[in-house]
Amino acid sequence: KKYKQGMEKTRNSFSGKINDLIARYRKVDEDFFEELEEVLIAADVGINTVMELVDELKMEVKRQNIKDTNEIKDVISEKLVDIYYGDDDEEIEKLNIQKNDLSIILVVGVNGVGKTTSIGKLAYQLKQEGKSVMLAAGDTFRAGAIEQLDVWGERAGVDVIKQGAGSDPAAVIFDGIKAAKSRNADVLICDTAGRLQNKVNLMNELAKVKRVIEREVPEAPHEVLLVLDATTGQNALSQAKTFSEATDVSGIILTKLDGTAKGGIVLAIRNELQIPVKFAGLGEKIEDLQAFDAHAFVYGLFA
Ligand code: GDP
Repeated sequence: KKYKQGMEKTRNSFSGKINDLIARYRKVDEDFFEELEEVLIAADVGINTVMELVDELKMEVKRQNIKDTNEIKDVISEKLVDIYYGDDDEEIEKLNIQKNDLSIILVVGVNGVGKTTSIGKLAYQLKQEGKSVMLAAGDTFRAGAIEQLDVWGERAGVDVIKQGAGSDPAAVIFDGIKAAKSRNADVLICDTAGRLQNKVNLMNELAKVKRVIEREVPEAPHEVLLVLDATTGQNALSQAKTFSEATDVSGIILTKLDGTAKGGIVLAIRNELQIPVKFAGLGEKIEDLQAFDAHAFVYGLFA
């Protein structure tokens, strides 16, 4: 329900435009497909994804002998979901959490995308599920980042392991792991600095942090979640490219989906980078984080 409420902007523009197309065209023809392409591109679905979708649609229209545009809506939803999952099963959206062992989640992303907020929301959500959660304040670079994480830790009711500003992020995360182990925590969520301006620094810092984590906990980090702001559209896509070159990103937290009509970016990220969206941010409050579900998302677009 929350999911539907948060997606109004995208849904209104998306389904509004597609319904309008269907009403105007009635018959499925070349011009219809051309306008459909424009609508999808305007929703930030991404050129490659749009091309793939339209090719698939054309084939399906031929196969099922669809003439009336009214019949094509369901086919569009089906194909979008198919393209989203590709050859993978639907488990790709699930967070990789260990059953009886410490799980470590590394969170990366540039400033302002909603990284701190998302960490707070995720900690709260996992805690609601009965897990004991701790945070490590590894963004020692941005002024105020540690204090801000502290505020979210308090809101979520979880402890934050920190050192002073400017300290070594890998050392903070090392402390976090030690504390999480000694307190038998289920999940440690590690914040990191997002210095995109300097890719070499970013890569080195993330590599160092990962080395520390791997040394302390085999198979960790269990997730590397990249936080992206849906309202930045194609910019989010290029951030995703840069971060996936710097480290192995296992999933996306897509924030501010409530604030954009361009929710199609979800499909572009998945299709062009093969990274699944695992959570969607749908507001500023602590409960406003939703486990992502492509079915609900796509069908929500057309509801
Ligand atoms: P950071 O610099 O990446 O840590 O970003 P913050 O967590 O400080 O968030 C930046 C701003 O985005 C804040 O005003 C948040 O309230 C807001 N924000 C974060 N996530 C969402 C979301 O899902 N929806 C909306 N509407 N605002 C969000």
